[in-house]
Amino acid sequence: MTPGTQIKIKTEVWDDMMRTPDMQVDRSGPPARSRQGDIVFRTQDLAVRYGSVLAVRGVSMDIAANRITAIIGPSGCGKSTLIRCFNRMNDLIPSATVEGTVTYRGEDMYGPHVDPVEVRRRIGMVFQKPNPFPKSIYDNIAFGLKVNGLSDDIDDRVEMALKRAALWDEVRKDLKKSALALSGGQQQRLCIARAIAVQPDVVLMDEPCSALDPIATAKIEDLMRELQSDYTIIIVTHNMQQAARVSDMTAFLTADVREEEDTRTGVLVEYDKTEKIFTNPGDERTEAYITGRFG
Ligand code: ADP
Repeated sequence: MTPGTQIKIKTEVWDDMMRTPDMQVDRSGPPARSRQGDIVFRTQDLAVRYGSVLAVRGVSMDIAANRITAIIGPSGCGKSTLIRCFNRMNDLIPSATVEGTVTYRGEDMYGPHVDPVEVRRRIGMVFQKPNPFPKSIYDNIAFGLKVNGLSDDIDDRVEMALKRAALWDEVRKDLKKSALALSGGQQQRLCIARAIAVQPDVVLMDEPCSALDPIATAKIEDLMRELQSDYTIIIVTHNMQQAARVSDMTAFLTADVREEEDTRTGVLVEYDKTEKIFTNPGDERTEAYITGRFG
């Protein structure tokens, strides 16, 4: 097969992925290494172990501000492990140790004077399964505000967060209703509202749509694009179409399996503009994955 033919096939895959309404995304994202001022996170030779098991190794990448960065790859390649490094969530797993460096806006995130609680205020997280508190819709947001010392103008802040999360019109008359009575998609938007209410800089999303139906998924994807002007977003997704639709940059991870040593370690294969990854990847492992031949 000639190189031209290969690219044509991949372009068709790309076009097919884009054949969904509302896909006018600005993809003029920065290169993987951009100006220092634009970089929110820089990892260098990042590795994570669970006990003695090396789960991910050698990840060096820059995450650009106000961009959506997708982390894709087959199950078990370390996507969740990697995203948890960006707000020190791995600290909460006793067996986990993080090696290498992660800087957040130029500062060592794992430095001795860094308060992980403050890190998690600035770098919010939304999980696979919507996890609202068993409280009212209002209290789900007000609680985080109070804990973070943002107790002034709570009503306004709650309203603003719900508006930003595109949920206000659906819940404005039911703010005292239990959050658990909302649909899954509404609960996930409430969790996004809760995350952004405390004015973070970054929102991490670990498979935020995998428990949702296609309509709720489309709403979250629309919301991500709207939030991108104010926040830096990193999303783990097993859904390649989703990565292609919403992200500016894509990181492809895979598991390096060494049978003789009985090890399986996640490695970053390729990190580039999303369009490049899906139309003209530089590594054959990426190509095999995005064309469905592997994973
Ligand atoms: P992915 O998100 O790509 O599916 P994960 O980051 O969840 O991958 O997992 C990467 C590897 O780390 C897997 O082998 C998994 O079993 C292991 N792992 C993940 N979380 C833990 C944990 N809390 N304790 C021990 N091993 C873990």
